Amino acid sequence: MTFVPIDQIRSYHAHIYFKDSDERETAAVLRERIGEQFLVQLGRWHEQPVGPHERPMYQVAFATALFASFVPWLMLNRCGLVILIHPNTGHARADHLVHALWLGNILAIERPEQLPEGPTDPAEDIVSPNTSPTLKPDC
Ligand code: ZN
Repeated sequence: MTFVPIDQIRSYHAHIYFKDSDERETAAVLRERIGEQFLVQLGRWHEQPVGPHERPMYQVAFATALFASFVPWLMLNRCGLVILIHPNTGHARADHLVHALWLGNILAIERPEQLPEGPTDPAEDIVSPNTSPTLKPDC
């Protein structure tokens, strides 16, 4: 067995899924609050499944230092939405299939063979926050 040191994690993604109009509305409210509360990089809103994701979703990229506040907050506030949290180690296939953390049900990862095995350029995993939080992270 090979142990992977945690300093291999460059950043994280949270993929917040929605499957119908009710969940879409919840996901929109959650997205707005995330932006008010956390310094993260909010990705584009996808109305259709893209890449390896089987449902519509949006991505939230965040720095490793934010994990301890952001992930517990998502646990408490996901309102039934399915969320995939995966590390970015430069090995996208393993990050999605082996190293992933799911809140709610585990969904399929589509066409995993299209995810690069890596290693990939670390520059791809740099988080450029695009939010301007006005609320404390612990509220
Ligand atoms: Zn991702």
